[in-house]
Amino acid sequence: MGDPQPTIDQPVRLEIEPNGEMTGGSRRYDKLLGDLEGLYRDDDAYRALLAERGADALMYYVYDQRYQEGPGALIVGTSTLLPGTVGDEYAMTRGHLHAISDRAELYYCLSGHGVMLLDTIDGRSEAVELTPGAAVNVPGEWIHRSVNVGDEPFVTLFSYAADAGQDYGIIAEAGGMRTRIVTDGDGWKQIPNPTHVGYARER
Ligand code: ZN
Repeated sequence: MGDPQPTIDQPVRLEIEPNGEMTGGSRRYDKLLGDLEGLYRDDDAYRALLAERGADALMYYVYDQRYQEGPGALIVGTSTLLPGTVGDEYAMTRGHLHAISDRAELYYCLSGHGVMLLDTIDGRSEAVELTPGAAVNVPGEWIHRSVNVGDEPFVTLFSYAADAGQDYGIIAEAGGMRTRIVTDGDGWKQIPNPTHVGYARER
């Protein structure tokens, strides 16, 4: 009786373009304007954009490559977040905490100008500005979301443990993250989010 033989996966070569195009990946998924109800503080501005551009307007898309779901494997991919504002708030991803919350994630900026917005359940908040060549090593237990504060697509390469999963509800149930990233006329600023009511584990 020995240990079971481990499954040994094949190495995979990926071609990753600065615009986020990835060849060799497993899948792509698109996030559309109609999917983002309740994400932005200014609901009137969201409704106006929906009327103007339609529910099918592309907001961001993700390519990823995964070869198995086990805890030792990495998922590698790119996230491309298109530019724009809804009201005074910059375009952003829905954001999440990993379902296995201690799982970390690397984000490396390939192009554009963005901010990684980060909260912990126990009360810390950070905003890390990303431009090409800059990366953020996000430890476990941090809720994270990308925000595009530039006028071109904000593209990041990411990698995280294949078993991490995503809990998207934690932000929605809290009325959004603790802070929001808004335009101040000629740049971005981080302001408190008045609709935030605390994350489930701190309430
Ligand atoms: Zn993540």
